[in-house]
Amino acid sequence: MPNYTSGLDFAQQLDQNDPLKHFRSQFHIPKDNQGNELIYMTGNSLGLQPKITKEYIDEELEDWATLGVEGHTEGRHPWLHYHEFLTNTMAEIVGAKPLEVVVMNSLTANLHFMMVSFYQPTAKRYKILIEADAFPSDKYAVESQLRHHGFDDKEGLILWKARDGEELANYEDLEAILKEQGDEIALIMIGGVNYYTGQFFDLKRITELGHSYGCTVGFDCAHGAGNVQLNLHDSGADFAVWCTYKYLNSGPGSLSGAFVHERHAHRKDLNRFTGWWSHNKETRFKMRDEFDQLPGAEGWQLSNPPILSMAAIRASLDVFKTAGFDNLCKKSKQLTGYFEFLLNELNNDHIKIITPKDPEQRGCQLSIQVKNADKSLHTKLFEAGIITDWREPDVIRCAPVPLYNSYMDVFQFVNRLKTILN
Ligand SMILES: *Cc1c(COP(=O)(O)O)cnc(C)c1O
Repeated sequence: MPNYTSGLDFAQQLDQNDPLKHFRSQFHIPKDNQGNELIYMTGNSLGLQPKITKEYIDEELEDWATLGVEGHTEGRHPWLHYHEFLTNTMAEIVGAKPLEVVVMNSLTANLHFMMVSFYQPTAKRYKILIEADAFPSDKYAVESQLRHHGFDDKEGLILWKARDGEELANYEDLEAILKEQGDEIALIMIGGVNYYTGQFFDLKRITELGHSYGCTVGFDCAHGAGNVQLNLHDSGADFAVWCTYKYLNSGPGSLSGAFVHERHAHRKDLNRFTGWWSHNKETRFKMRDEFDQLPGAEGWQLSNPPILSMAAIRASLDVFKTAGFDNLCKKSKQLTGYFEFLLNELNNDHIKIITPKDPEQRGCQLSIQVKNADKSLHTKLFEAGIITDWREPDVIRCAPVPLYNSYMDVFQFVNRLKTILN
C-alpha cells in the first residue's frame, strides 16, 4: 500500500502506474448528455458492459440464424454444453472446484432450489438464521421456506443483529445465538458480503461455527462474486449462490451461479427438484423413464439455459481471465483504500463510512452513512455526474470497481463531494 496523499498529481500517478489501466477502455462508460463520462460507482448494483459482449452474443444470434436447431451441436460454441464453457473461470473466481459450480437460473430462484436440498427442517430443528439487514429478497425467500414447511415465519427466523449504536454484525453475538439456540437452527444463510454495509463476513469461521452445532450453512454471495476472494471450497460451506450482473458484468437480470460443496456431489439421498438438465448427459436425449442424477452442482440444473445471456457471461469471464482475479483484488484494495483516505481527509461529520476499515473485511464498496438521512446529498452527487445508489434508511453505496474505475474517478468523486458538502 502506498502512502496516500491528497493531490491531483497523486491520482494521476496511481493511474499511470496501474497495470490494469487499459481495461477501462474495454468497457462502455455511461455519459451525460454533453458526452462527458459519468463517474460510475454502482458496479455493485449493475456492472458495466464489456465491449466484447456484443460480439459474443452476435455469434450466437448468427449460429441460430444459420444453423437453427443444429446449433445445439454444430454451433461454434455448441449450446448443449454452453454452461460448461463458463465453469472453470467461474470456479476460479469464487474459489471452488469445477465440480462444485454451475451457472443456471436467476439468483433468488437458486436460493430456493438450494434450500430444497439444504433446508430440511424437523420438529426440533427448523429455524433459519440470517443477518439482520439481509437483502430483502433473501429474507422473503427464507420466510417463505419456513411457511412452506408449515412453520411460523416470525418464530422460525433468527436475526443476527448489530448491537445498538453499531452498524456491523459481531461474531461474538453469533456465537451467543448458536450457544443458546444452535440445536434448533437447521440453516444459517448469510450474505457473504452484506449489501448494505459492505461487510465481508468470514465464511469459514461462520461455517465451522454452524457445523459444530449441526446446522447447514449457505451464503448469498451476490456482493462477493467478482469482488472478493470467497474461497468457497475452503470455507466448507454447504452451498452458495450469486448473481452475475453485479461485479460480474453480465447484463441486467443475467443468470446466477451456484456452488454445492464437493462432499455433497454424489449424494442421492438429498431432496431436490430435478429436470432433464439434472439427468446424466450421456442418456439425456434417450428420453428414458428412469432418472439418472448428474453428479456435482450441475445436478441441480433443471432446464436448458438461455444461451444469449450465457454468451454475455462468457464475454465477461474472458475479461476477468485476461485481467487475472488476483490482480483485480490487489488493485481493488488499493483503489478503495485511496477512496477511504480521501473521504477521511474531508473530515466532515455530515458523512461517516460504516464499512469495515480492515481491508480483509470488505471488498471495493464503501457505504457512506449520511447524517439525518439527508437524501439530497445523493441527488446532488447525481447532478454532479456521479452515479451512486441510495439505500434506505441513510446510506450511499459507492463501489470503485478495479476493472473500469480509475484513481481519477475516485479523486473527482471526493473533490465534487467536498464542494457539495461545503
Ligand atoms: C442483488 C441481490 C439479489 C437480487 O436477486 P435476483 O433474484 O437476482 O433478483 C438477491 N439477494 C442479494 C443478496 C443480492 O445482492
